[in-house]
Amino acid sequence: MSIAENIASFEAQLAGTAARLVVVTKTHPVERLREAYEAGARIFGENRVQEMAAKQPELPADIEWHQIGQLQTNKVKYLAPFVHTVESIDSLRLLLELDKQAAKHNRIIRGLLQFHIAQEDTKTGLTLPEAEEILQSAEYQALRHVRLTGVMGIATHSPDEALVRGEFHQLRQYFDYLKATYFAADEEFREISMGMSADYPWALAEGSTLIRVGSAIFGSRG
Ligand SMILES: *Cc1c(COP(=O)(O)O)cnc(C)c1O
Repeated sequence: MSIAENIASFEAQLAGTAARLVVVTKTHPVERLREAYEAGARIFGENRVQEMAAKQPELPADIEWHQIGQLQTNKVKYLAPFVHTVESIDSLRLLLELDKQAAKHNRIIRGLLQFHIAQEDTKTGLTLPEAEEILQSAEYQALRHVRLTGVMGIATHSPDEALVRGEFHQLRQYFDYLKATYFAADEEFREISMGMSADYPWALAEGSTLIRVGSAIFGSRG
């Protein structure tokens, strides 16, 4: 199937749900991103800063660029002029740097708190107490150029439905708790980014609002 057919198939599966598609374009050349754009995709996810910064000027300006990989503070400046959402917020330090760089461009950058939900230790992310420590800090509360709009997580890479669904369910519970406790009056705090090519149906069943799909659209990255 072509990129356009794959995107149409995802859009059909998402119709009638609250979820939107983040097309994960990492490693793919600009021509394939243009094909995805022409098929209607408007949210693109990349995990390497230099790669995203190189592709962005080559493509239409109405694309929402999402940073989905771990972001080092010294690289924030390359994304700050254009990035829509950083899905991988894992420290107060990163939020402070995003705020500083976004202010220079007179913009607001959106962010998702990334939680550690998988069994594998290699997958990064916050614990709930760590996230609450950030949200309760005076430094966070003073920020004006970053806005948290939800949570993100990566489940264990496993065919075990009960395990993976349990992890997505946990992330949903973190979202519900944070929403009620810190963001009850904030309509913009509404995203639960979970689900990839191998597990997105389970993520949708657990309430995902953003699925991040690469290989099921472009084929394997080899
Ligand atoms: C690569 C990547 C994806 C997409 O993975 P696929 O299995 O190709 O769909 C989603 N989320 C993150 C954080 C990724 O790094």
